[in-house]
Amino acid sequence: AKAAGRNAMCFFDPDMQEVMNARVILESDLHKSWERNEFVLHYQPQVDGNGVVGAEALIRWQHPRRGLLPPAEFITQTEETGLILPLGNWVLEAACIQLATWSERPETAGLNLAVNVSPRQFCQPDFVELVISTLERSGADPHRLKLELTESVLVHNMDETIAKMTALKAKGVGFALDDFGVGYSSLYYLKRLPLDWVKIDQSFVRDVPTDANAATIVRAILLLAKSLELAVIAEGVETAAQRDFLVKHGCTAYQGYLFSPPLPLDQFEEFMAGRDGQ
Ligand code: C2E
Ligand code: CA
Ligand code: CA
Ligand code: CA
Repeated sequence: AKAAGRNAMCFFDPDMQEVMNARVILESDLHKSWERNEFVLHYQPQVDGNGVVGAEALIRWQHPRRGLLPPAEFITQTEETGLILPLGNWVLEAACIQLATWSERPETAGLNLAVNVSPRQFCQPDFVELVISTLERSGADPHRLKLELTESVLVHNMDETIAKMTALKAKGVGFALDDFGVGYSSLYYLKRLPLDWVKIDQSFVRDVPTDANAATIVRAILLLAKSLELAVIAEGVETAAQRDFLVKHGCTAYQGYLFSPPLPLDQFEEFMAGRDGQ
């Protein structure tokens, strides 16, 4: 409210009006884009000491006027409007179909695919049935599907969360705790949840090895994960120095621009074919 006097009503502030207009336009665009199938998945390789072991599916919006938009531009709105439910289910379905396709080609047969699950999506009462039916319809191997949850999923109802995870794990589905280290009660969750992996948040990875606090936190996460027999994947690895630090302290899997940015499907498959031929 830069020029507004003390008594001006915020509602008539032109800046505020602009923000509201932008929001209404975004919501209406989102609604249309859903009908026009303007969403796509990109795939970011996840690597270990032997090469690519999988990918994370990351959503993009092919906007008719604004070009390819990252999730930061629209995911919050889809959560607020509820569009995240059909959108999240579409992501899951598209990912499972992709997994089934990959399993039939030698270059991609062994790949895992990680899918981000939003809190609202996970909290649907029929989430477990939905995942199972999507797996069955697509023919994807449940053991290749990894669901990435953030702590915000978990705070709703711990017992229900554990029950849902356990039911899906019985089918072979794996779970990762995303953005590990940024929340408040992570240690508690880590101990109680039937997790397979934790993903060290990129905000910590970014500052190693130079920042002493980040280095201490990353080392602590790696030690803790080891003692709890959890696998760890570090995200946002951009430099060889970061990777070397992680390797030295026992990390075994990585994701980040150092290896590859998220890629459109055709480029991801080229990337895999290229590696195979090396
Ligand atoms: P995330 O799950 O933490 O995903 C990692 C983000 O880090 C991705 O951003 C990825 O492009 C980015 N990234 C990867 N490597 C590097 C690196 O070396 N350096 C830096 N600076 N960044 C790197 P992206 O694709 O923009 O996605 C942002 C967030 O949007 C994701 O964070 C995730 O929370 C959410 N998201 C993405 N796809 C989906 C989806 O299908 N469903 C839901 N519910 N959320 C999604
Ligand atoms: Ca993720
Ligand atoms: Ca993450
Ligand atoms: Ca993140």
